[in-house]
Amino acid sequence: LFISFEGVDGVGKTTQVERLRAALEAAGREVVVTREPGGTPLGRAIRRLLLHGVPADEAESGARNATGGKAAKAAPADIAPRAEALLFAADRAQHVAEVIRPALERGAVVITDRYLDSSLAYQAGGRELTADEIRSLSMWGTNGLLPDRTYLLDMDPALSHSRLTHDEDRMESAGDGFQRRTREAFLGLAAAEPERFRVIDASRTIDEVWAAIRGDVDGLLAD
Ligand code: C5P
Ligand code: MG
Repeated sequence: LFISFEGVDGVGKTTQVERLRAALEAAGREVVVTREPGGTPLGRAIRRLLLHGVPADEAESGARNATGGKAAKAAPADIAPRAEALLFAADRAQHVAEVIRPALERGAVVITDRYLDSSLAYQAGGRELTADEIRSLSMWGTNGLLPDRTYLLDMDPALSHSRLTHDEDRMESAGDGFQRRTREAFLGLAAAEPERFRVIDASRTIDEVWAAIRGDVDGLLAD
């Protein structure tokens, strides 16, 4: 059983993933909890690049080459949209090969904090690439692996953003318009695949959100 959690930053995905893990383990299932980007060692290196940009020494030597020897100060980490999409796809390909498929093959329940739909919502919904382009990249990278169930934790990004307790990363600071477009993109994806998705109103309390998820998971496990 392969389950993904999706939604904009700060909606409480991580909290609900942990609730689900605890409930499934209490029911005697082997559970593998993982996340994207960064579910593998390679993925963590990719995640650092994506979230914090290219390290300064790399940026400077690149700038030196480009200006024929003079060490111009490069702006931190401009990652072209297509390069960004490929980096997320590479993270996912490694994640599926190294963590997700082996776990599914031995019968574990795999719960991932973000998967394909985040790429569709962020790299296609928020930026200049099309959903079809992003989808085919990911389908190639994962050899077509899709979750059995996807919980979309939905709420107003203005609210979820204010819940974030850590310093913003490169993505999170992209601004309100970007977060709103991303939320709409998630809702559009859910509407297009109602069998795979459950849209959960995440503006409620943690216990209420969990009750909604638990009710659905019980049905999945009974199948
Ligand atoms: O959920 P998490 O904080 O681990 O995600 C890291 C950042 O990467 C988030 O700010 C999210 O907006 C962004 N992201 C993205 N495209 C993905 C996955 C995550 O832009 N496919
Ligand atoms: Mg985050």
